[in-house]
Amino acid sequence: MTGAEELRSRTRELLASHPPASTDRLDFLRARFDAGLAWVHYPEGLGGLGVPRSLQAVVDAELEAAGAPDNDPRRIGIGLGMAAPTILQYGTEEQKRRFLRPLWTGEEVWCQLFSEPGAGSDLAALGTRAVREGDDWVVNGQKVWTSSAHVARWAILIARTDPDVPKHRGITYFVCDMTDPGVEVRPLRQVTGEAEFNEVFLTGVRIPDARRLGEIGDGWKVAQTTLNNERVAIGGMRLPREGGMIGPVSKTWRERPELRTHDLHQRLLKLWVESEVSRLTAERLRQQLVAGQPGPEGAGMKLAFARLNQEISGLEVELLGEEGLLYDDWTMRRPELVDFTGREAGYRYLRSKGNSIEGGTSEVLLNIVAERVLGLPPEPRTDKDVAWKDLAR
Ligand SMILES: Cc1cc2nc3c(=O)[nH]c(=O)nc-3n(C[C@H](O)[C@H](O)[C@H](O)COP(=O)(O)OP(=O)(O)OC[C@H]3O[C@@H](n4cnc5c(N)ncnc54)[C@H](O)[C@@H]3O)c2cc1C
Repeated sequence: MTGAEELRSRTRELLASHPPASTDRLDFLRARFDAGLAWVHYPEGLGGLGVPRSLQAVVDAELEAAGAPDNDPRRIGIGLGMAAPTILQYGTEEQKRRFLRPLWTGEEVWCQLFSEPGAGSDLAALGTRAVREGDDWVVNGQKVWTSSAHVARWAILIARTDPDVPKHRGITYFVCDMTDPGVEVRPLRQVTGEAEFNEVFLTGVRIPDARRLGEIGDGWKVAQTTLNNERVAIGGMRLPREGGMIGPVSKTWRERPELRTHDLHQRLLKLWVESEVSRLTAERLRQQLVAGQPGPEGAGMKLAFARLNQEISGLEVELLGEEGLLYDDWTMRRPELVDFTGREAGYRYLRSKGNSIEGGTSEVLLNIVAERVLGLPPEPRTDKDVAWKDLAR
């Protein structure tokens, strides 16, 4: 097995053959992928070396010290955090080879076509239909809240392929080409003034069967891999001490002593400690993931992340007083990346409201923790054995 020393020397070889200062950014990223140093826990030939995920830190430290470019992970979060692990687990060899390299280098951005106007928390109720025609599937329906659809080349899509069986059983998972003429993307403006997400209309979109991920009717199972990874991707990001939402408010606290009060001090200290505990818990979760896919435990991380972001950004607005209510720019932006802690205090406060909705609402995540982590009795479900077409909508 490749150890830390060998990884270090491989990384130095990459830096010697592709000096960051004189190598085109994309060429460097492709060479890094081909050397197995992109995500070291992925298999050889697919950007990794099949070694524990924890060794990635060795590679990253060498590359950072040498000033090497990264793949701008915040811009391609859905690809890296959700599409890639699903393709890795369920994709054919051909699909893995086609999609993973440009996904990792950021040449191709991904989005997630899951939620619909009538199917968010109850995602399995979705109504977008995919009907088989020869070697293709013809897809018709509407998706909503699709982050990054306006910049995406590909989408992970779940659609109903069999309305005659109960809702969880008639779903199939596909990769959808966002440049297909049947795909229409319309902006949705959020409370922040930005339109980082969209509604997406799918009209007669033809998807070759070769772009199906997993078996026909197994889409719900495949989607669990995406959703479990999504919660870790949102709530379990690797952060330095005082990284994330606690960073800006701590900085203001240090730099602006005139704003301080005793009450705010107590609250800030409490939130600082909770942020640190949450950061270290995420680190432990990542170590548990060294070998496999995340389970429902990621739901707990995502819950803590949403609550802390909202409490901390609320405290920051309070600390700044009137200044905290100022908002720099209300023109509709179409950001290429989502930065929860970016811009000013007012933005952080408003954007954090979405944290307890995206990737599963906090109420639904509490249900998941109760049922699948703590083993408590499940919510009563009356629609488990009813064909989807007979459900009330
Ligand atoms: C910023 C942002 C980005 C997003 N990006 C994407 C994306 O890229 N792709 C995508 O597919 N989706 C995306 N979403 C959608 C997101 O996954 C859904 O909004 C979410 O799952 C909730 O669904 P809903 O909005 O339909 O609310 P509903 O499901 O209608 O929920 C309404 C309320 O009822 C509560 N509720 C529902 N069921 C239960 C229950 N069983 N027990 C207790 N309470 C319950 C909810 O907690 C919520 O408060 C995004 C959302 C946001 C806010």
